[in-house]
Amino acid sequence: MFYLGNDPFFLLIILTLGLSLLAQWKVHSTYTRYSKVAAGRGLTAEEVAGQILSHYGVNIPINSVAGNLTDHYDPRHKTLNLSSGVYGSRSIAAYGIAAHEAGHAIQHAKAYSPLMFRNWFYPAAAFGSNLGPWLFIIGIFAGIAQLIDLGIIFFAAAVIFSIVTLPVEFDASRRAIAALRSDAYLSTQELRGAKNVLDAAALTYVAATLMAVLQFARLLFMRNSRRN
Ligand SMILES: [Zn+2]
Repeated sequence: MFYLGNDPFFLLIILTLGLSLLAQWKVHSTYTRYSKVAAGRGLTAEEVAGQILSHYGVNIPINSVAGNLTDHYDPRHKTLNLSSGVYGSRSIAAYGIAAHEAGHAIQHAKAYSPLMFRNWFYPAAAFGSNLGPWLFIIGIFAGIAQLIDLGIIFFAAAVIFSIVTLPVEFDASRRAIAALRSDAYLSTQELRGAKNVLDAAALTYVAATLMAVLQFARLLFMRNSRRN
């Protein structure tokens, strides 16, 4: 990231960076706060996830993985992976996170179209986000217009992926809260805590998408101002 004179995106990118840091701080603080509050129901988070999954007829392994907030659903191996701080925990935060990951597994089982598209599109996006900016920069310095355009097209794949991630994440949290409420895993009061954790996580995705869109707009701007 290099600064250009007369760059209308620079301030917006700094503001979005601020939003991203705020979101990460919020995830950390809400998670720390609600991981200390035990749910009245007394089940462990993986038991909750297992029960939600079997309610939808989804029978997949639930594993414990190393790391902090490394929880994820693996669509390739069809496994639910909960971080060591969530797996075995009886906290409100752990219930929210485990139910959210179960939400992704349910999306997959039901062939929820944004998730199916996201999984299918992932290789192109990973390739594009790694190679796109390099092609662009080399194109700028070498003065090769085709390389600049190719870099922009590649980077666009990463932007599309980031945008499609939003409905996937929002829907998983919506499914999580609905499941935690309908089967009374959490009381109304406890549900508020779980929702706070999931909302903070959603904000990190919003900030990441906003950043990707801004970077993309900035590349287009640089491409066009070069020609003038
Ligand atoms: Zn998610």
